[in-house]
Amino acid sequence: MKPVIALVGRPNVGKSTLFNQMTRSRAALVADYAGLTRDRQYGSAEHEGRDFIVIDTGGLTGERGGIEALMQDQAWAAIEEADCVVFMVDARAGLTVADQEIAEKLRRSSKPIQLVVNKVDGVDESLVQAEFARLGLGEPVFTTASHGRGISTLWDAVLVRLADKLAVMDEEPEYDEKTIRVALIGRPNVGKSTLTNRLLGEDRVLAFDQPGTTRDSIYIPFEQNGKAYTLIDTAGVRRRARVNEMIEKFSIVKTLQAIEAANVVILVCDAHEGISEQDQHLLGFIHDRGRALVIAINKWDNLTDYARAEVKRQIDLRLDFINYAEMHFISALHGTGVGHLFESVDKAYLAAMRDISTNVLTRSLEAAVFAHQPPLIHGRRIKLRYAHQGGSNPPIIVIHGKQTDRLPGNYSRYLEGWFRKEFQLMGTPIRLEFRTDS
Ligand code: GDP
Ligand code: GDP
Repeated sequence: MKPVIALVGRPNVGKSTLFNQMTRSRAALVADYAGLTRDRQYGSAEHEGRDFIVIDTGGLTGERGGIEALMQDQAWAAIEEADCVVFMVDARAGLTVADQEIAEKLRRSSKPIQLVVNKVDGVDESLVQAEFARLGLGEPVFTTASHGRGISTLWDAVLVRLADKLAVMDEEPEYDEKTIRVALIGRPNVGKSTLTNRLLGEDRVLAFDQPGTTRDSIYIPFEQNGKAYTLIDTAGVRRRARVNEMIEKFSIVKTLQAIEAANVVILVCDAHEGISEQDQHLLGFIHDRGRALVIAINKWDNLTDYARAEVKRQIDLRLDFINYAEMHFISALHGTGVGHLFESVDKAYLAAMRDISTNVLTRSLEAAVFAHQPPLIHGRRIKLRYAHQGGSNPPIIVIHGKQTDRLPGNYSRYLEGWFRKEFQLMGTPIRLEFRTDS
């Protein structure tokens, strides 16, 4: 599981600027999916070889009542689940009442908190330090987020605050590495728990819930069609009694962590409710993270032909930007279609883990270029010379050549389709990375 860092503070202090600084080390994605509304608030970051999830919780104002407060509930829920909270204040604005109210609430959350004083460009640090010391949150880190200054000091401070947590996370993984790790992802009430219980069977859940383990495992072994898998429990089947019901019912943080930890994600949608914008958001997360994907349209029982046609129309309209995932119409309640679902899971897993040699990839690239040449740029043709695999789950194909930075998007989509067909990479996104060799 990746540690989660939540960025909090009043509006305008510089959180999204810091968010961009912390998350920008990630390789840019080549594929560009038009029409996908992306939630900018969640990102992955890498520091010293370790991956983190960073959440910009948006602006907290410290207000305690009314609509303001309601809007901030989700932000506070994210804070509750974060491993470390980075609390940002604005050196130019000085200490405000809202800062103090946020600090007071944060202290009650008993999370590790790192205070960050931003916008210290042209400000006397020692004066500012004295002022913000009144928050009683310990040594601050000073940053000028807009210039990327102080960011590595901040990372160091965060790592110190996370040290205990990271040590626990570094223990041996609690699952059998040979099994396929599957996560069920979906909005509240789509049927994740029902499907989970069907997959596990009550007995197995109880048998696995042994006393004496210090932390709740979210990895649960199960079998389907005689094969061994590991389920990443986001539905909270084992923990529902203990954790805040609201958070447990649907948690974006848990969803993100499960996507990260999975080999294959099953996105569960509810045919009775139709395909919503939230489903699209979740699909976007799964795609961005590059996870193999199978889509399950649940509650297919008990629907009129008219309703079924309407759901299919919505699928064409809203899920169309993902062209590689197999889709199943299932009933978790009755168990219909669940077996076939796992045939697709297996297929998607094999595609995601494919290992293709440099030789074979390069020959395939040559054939693709021969069939359809890249365009001329200022009279010189873009050259694509060879390809090698740069990773799996998702498969990364690194293509070397000349002027590759000028390759139009439609040509890289052509190549993606070519490789997908050639190597039967159904069920997984493919990343193409282009390098220009001198
Ligand atoms: P958020 O609302 O907390 O996410 O704040 P933003 O990241 O959107 O930043 C608000 C404004 O402060 C923007 O105009 C930023 O360019 C500016 N800003 C961010 N960091 C700094 C900084 O270190 N110094 C200065 N002078 N301005 C900054
Ligand atoms: P979760 O919030 O995603 O874990 O959803 P639940 O598994 O708690 O299911 C929400 C509701 O949908 C419950 O009342 C289930 O009985 C119902 N449900 C789940 N799967 C199906 C299904 O395949 N068909 C029908 N008709 N109802 C279902």
